Amino acid sequence: MRFAVLGSSSSGNASVLRIEPRDASLGAPRQILIDTGLSPKATRGRLSALGFDIADTTDILYTHFDMDHARASWATPVMCFGMTVRCARKHLPLAKERGLPSQFTHAFEGAFTLGSGITVTPIDLPHDAAGAVAFHIQTPAGSIGFATDLGRVEPTLRDAFEGVDLLAIESNYDHAMQVASSRPTFLKDRIMGGNGHLSNQQTLDFVRDLARTKAPERIVLLHLSRECNDPHVIQSLWQTHAPELWSRVTIARADEGVHVVHGNS
Ligand SMILES: [Zn+2]
Repeated sequence: MRFAVLGSSSSGNASVLRIEPRDASLGAPRQILIDTGLSPKATRGRLSALGFDIADTTDILYTHFDMDHARASWATPVMCFGMTVRCARKHLPLAKERGLPSQFTHAFEGAFTLGSGITVTPIDLPHDAAGAVAFHIQTPAGSIGFATDLGRVEPTLRDAFEGVDLLAIESNYDHAMQVASSRPTFLKDRIMGGNGHLSNQQTLDFVRDLARTKAPERIVLLHLSRECNDPHVIQSLWQTHAPELWSRVTIARADEGVHVVHGNS
């Protein structure tokens, strides 16, 4: 199993998960993009810098269709490489708006399988009017919880993510920096009002709650606000309140791909 974040900020979000079954009888390799908030060209470049080939992509999963998660230029690579696009049924009209070809697009409402022993369970997230979707991805090599763009953690997410091996979750803003920023009040209210994004503290609280049962082996923090967050602030928060978990944390870079899991684990 290999997992990498290709970009993670309000200017473009995309991650990749690659599962290579140990032997061909267990299925073909699957290479799954989660969101396509970078252009195909930038995605190709960041994939190749990490040793992936965009042409090997079999599936794209969409969390939602805000521009920073779904660029409008993906119809050509989808058709050219025969990728299967999967999005929540409620998001289908938005997928169409982004120009994704309908014959390659499948809507999900509950759990679905991708072949090669992979099962994906979507979980609805509170985020703006259209909502977003988190994914629990069970693979033969371990389980992944992936959640970004959520205003709050609801019990359904907590239940779904209990026991995951790898957790990728947004840690969007530092509360004090958000409050002190020059952003307009309506924007601060949107972000902090329960239907926007998770603060560093909310993310930390959620991970500590999960860790009561089993701490994820790797924790990837996504989607840091450039204006209202700082990796050093996150580091000091975690080192103060959860020093035992900090060594498991990787902070995704905004503009550069980073491998989180690489190998056979
Ligand atoms: Zn976003």
